[in-house]
This record gives sequence, structure tokens and C-alpha cells, in this order.
Amino acid sequence: MTTVTTFQDLGLAKPLLQALATEGYTTPTPIQAKAIPLVLEGKDLLGIAQTGTGKTAAFALPILQRLAENRKPAPRRSCRVLVLSPTRELATQIAESFKAYGRNMGMSVAVVFGGVKYGPQVRALAGGVDVLVATPGRLLDHVGEKVLDLSSTEIFVLDEADQMLDLGFFKPIRQVASRLPKVRQNLFFSATMPTDIAKLAADLLTNPSRVEVTPQATTVEKIKQSVLFVEAVRKRALLSELFSDPTWTRTLVFTKTKRGADRVAAYLEAGGVEAAAIHGDKSQGQRERALQAFKDGRVRCLVATDIAARGIDVDGVTHVVNYELPYVPEAYVHRIGRTARAGASGIAVSLVSDDERNLLKDVQKLTRQTIPSFDRRNDRALGALDAAILKANPGKKPTTDRTGEAEARGEGRPEGGRNGRGRGRGPGGGQGQGQHKHGRPGGHGARPGGAPRTTYDPLKQDGATADAARKPRRRKRFGGGQGGGQRQGGQSA
Ligand code: AMP
Repeated sequence: MTTVTTFQDLGLAKPLLQALATEGYTTPTPIQAKAIPLVLEGKDLLGIAQTGTGKTAAFALPILQRLAENRKPAPRRSCRVLVLSPTRELATQIAESFKAYGRNMGMSVAVVFGGVKYGPQVRALAGGVDVLVATPGRLLDHVGEKVLDLSSTEIFVLDEADQMLDLGFFKPIRQVASRLPKVRQNLFFSATMPTDIAKLAADLLTNPSRVEVTPQATTVEKIKQSVLFVEAVRKRALLSELFSDPTWTRTLVFTKTKRGADRVAAYLEAGGVEAAAIHGDKSQGQRERALQAFKDGRVRCLVATDIAARGIDVDGVTHVVNYELPYVPEAYVHRIGRTARAGASGIAVSLVSDDERNLLKDVQKLTRQTIPSFDRRNDRALGALDAAILKANPGKKPTTDRTGEAEARGEGRPEGGRNGRGRGRGPGGGQGQGQHKHGRPGGHGARPGGAPRTTYDPLKQDGATADAARKPRRRKRFGGGQGGGQRQGGQSA
């Protein structure tokens, strides 16, 4: 029996192999090894895989090959391949992957999503494209305007189906599917397979091959996880203190709400940690700038809501922090998976207040583990640190930096969605912010923070000291809590 170990063994053509060499990929990931031969055969595929497993290449590579094998121009205002993505960030990344892997093949790739102008997208579609990556709302707008006709689309990919349903895209997906030809190849990916997703898959797919790479909702094993019990009001100080560890170079912090993300980013900045926030109320330009600053290492911390973080593909995330635990335990798995991309290891820390104990139970039940915990309650040093940060930055209010345009037109509803299984509370603000109810998390500008202490174990109770003597300094913001300028970021379509 032979084991598949190379991309060549999978039957990929030379231009793709060359592109993969340029990318530095030497070995197929498990989902790639399983999915690529099936997709090349033209089969429908049901892929159960989390983001970070290499699933984008698992569908993009064989799709490009199939397009090249039957080379023909896409008819005007149409696409040969349609990929539906729940979020703009993921759509952009998928399109970038198609471009990178197809760099030697001359395929045209376009991406459309809401919150940006229609004109460039209409022009991009006018001549027909080989691959179109889209979020559902804007795609349907274009179809409605007859800017796009899906009746000759050959391959349909639905990525992150569970997230799509969480965002309330059930009906739009069906509307899109009804515009596609009956005979087509379907690829369907989801991290989890609850009943509603399984039903959707059964309706959309024809006799699919099923590939599964990680057992459902199993926590990525390489991640070192811990829980810090702390009062809700002291979470912000504890978070700031955690950044005293210089190994926290690229940290993703998750909050439940958009407003919370802004506040946490503003507080970190006030405490001397370069931070930016990314969520659905940010303009596309702001989101792209924040992400770029995080990728470049200009900000050490990106504070995000679940929806905005979906699809963020940043290599080398050192730490993930659950500032608040998610209402839906599956989201815990998605979140911490951000720090273990493509086989890397990572660290995940959850700040848990007493009112979140039930959420923690849900997470532990789902992931079948007891997460090591440390008690940081009643830690007066945190109170002192909080006071020092606030004192050093009096008088300025964190802003939410709203621009209004984002998440418009139903593209990615407020962080939370309508179909949130088990989500009872309104997304996008108003809940879960008890830790801020007594006032601002600190102002801006001057900060008591500076160079981090060199050796420090954040999990030790006696580690916190109010480091008020740290020198203030100013730095440029990247949409953390105080809106910067409104340069329009680039977009792909
Ligand atoms: P995805 O699950 O598609 O979001 O991919 C996760 C990350 O793994 C991305 O940064 C890819 O560039 C990377 N990746 C995908 N396939 C491979 C591979 N075979 N070898 C190394 N890295 C890969």
C-alpha cells in the first residue's frame, strides 16, 4: 500500500506544483490529501474541517486544475466557479489563495462583498470571471441587478457553512442555489455538522464523498490552554498585565461585543500595549489597516469579535485570549484554533468571571477536557494597576469609531447573528460588558506602559504590580478605539 506524501502524488499539474513550491508548501495537509483526488474526479464533497487545516487549498487547487483541463472563457457577466464565504475577510483570503495557487495559469479571480462600492465589482464581473468569491447578500444584489448570471456556473463551493447559518444566511444560500444550474459540482465545508447543516448539505449535494479531518469540536491538541478566574471589573487590568510577558507578540483577544472590542483595545493602548480592534462596525479600510498592522507586528494585539475574526488568517499568532467566553461553546474551538495554524502550537488563555462559570462548563463538556485554572480573584495588585492606567490617561473617552457602512446590506449581521444556536442575547452591544459599567477603561494617548518586564509568569498570582512608573509615550493608532483617518483600504474586486 502506498501512502500519499506529495502534491505530485495527488495528481496536480505542473503549474500548480510550481505555485505550491513558491508558497513553500511541501506536504499536503490531511484534508488536502483526502479531498484533492475526489474533487479532481468531479465528485461532490462534504468536508468537515476547521479553518487552519488547509481546506482552502484543498478545494482551490483541484478547482483550478479542473478549470484548466477544460479551458474556455467564462461567458460575460458570469463565473465558472462560485465560492460563497460568510465574511469579507474570508472572501478576500480565499480569492488571494486562488490567485496565488493559480499564478501560473492566467485565471481571472474576482471578489464581491458588501460595505464597498458596487461600480468596481460590476466592472470586474462584466467580462465574466473564472472564479468568483462572494458573500451572499452582495452576490444576490448583483444577481438581482442582472449584473451576474449564475446559470452557467460549473462548480459551487460553500465555505464555513455553519458560520453562514449562524449569520442568518440560510435563505440567501437557498436563493443562490436556485440560480445555479442543476448539473454542477458542489463542495461544502463546515467545521461542525449539527442537524441543520447536515440537512442543508443533503439538499445541496449529490451523492457526496465525505471527508473529515478532525473529530467534531475537538480542541486543537497542540494549544496550551488555561483559565484565569477573575472579577469581571478586573479583567481589563489582568489582560494588560498579561502583556507584560514579552513573548506575547501577536495576540488575538476575543470579546463578545463590538463595543467591548473597542473598549478593550482602547484600554490596552492606555496601558501601553499597541492594540487595534476589528469588528463589523469598522469600515473595510479600517479593518484592512488594523489587520495589516497586526500582520506587520506594528500592533501586538488585535481585539476582535467572533464574526470579524472568522477567516482572519495570520501566521504566528502566539496567544489567543478569551476576554469573555463565547455563548456558543463551539466558538471557543474556533477562537483558540487561531493560534495553531498549519501545525504550529500556541497558547490560549480565558478570563472567566463568576457569571461565566456555566459557559466554561459548556466549553469543557464540548471539548472533553478540564482546562487548568488559576485564581486571580481578590488580587489587589490588579486594582492598583487599573487605577494607575486610568490615572495616567485621564479625561479621554474611548470611541467606538463607527463608520456606519460596514455590515450594511445584510453582509455579516451584527456579531452574533439571527440563527445563533443557543444565543439568547442581542449581539453588537449592550450585554456582557459589566466590567465597564463603572466607567471608561481608561483614556488614550499617554500611557503608563512601556517596555514589558522581561521575565514574568502571567499565571502566578503574585505577578501583578501596578507599574505606574512606566513612561508614557505616544503612538499612531490603527482603529483601536479612537478612529483614525478614513483612508480607503484596497479591495480586491
Ligand atoms: P486554511 O485552513 O485554508 O485557512 O489554511 C490555513 C493556513 O495553512 C494558511 O495560512 C495556508 O497558507 C496554510 N497552508 C495550507 N496548506 C498548506 C500546506 N500544505 N503546507 C503548509 N501550509 C499550508
